[in-house]
Amino acid sequence: MNARIVKCPQCNAEVAWTPESKWRPFCSERCKIIDLGGWASERYRIETPDAPDGVSGPSDPSRDDS
Ligand SMILES: [Zn+2]
Repeated sequence: MNARIVKCPQCNAEVAWTPESKWRPFCSERCKIIDLGGWASERYRIETPDAPDGVSGPSDPSRDDS
C-alpha cells in the first residue's frame, strides 16, 4: 500500500499520512507544538490527551506530596 506523503508545515520533512504518524501533518510533536503555540508552549510539558496504548503516564510524586 502506498502511504500518502505530506510535508510537515514546520520543517518541510516528509510525513507518511498513516495512523502511526500521530503528529501529522507534522513530522513530530515538536513541530506541532511550534505551530500551535510557538515556543511559549514549551513552558509546560505536553501531556498527550490520548496516550498510546499501554502507556500510563508516570505520576509525579512531588506534586501530591502535601
Ligand atoms: Zn517537522
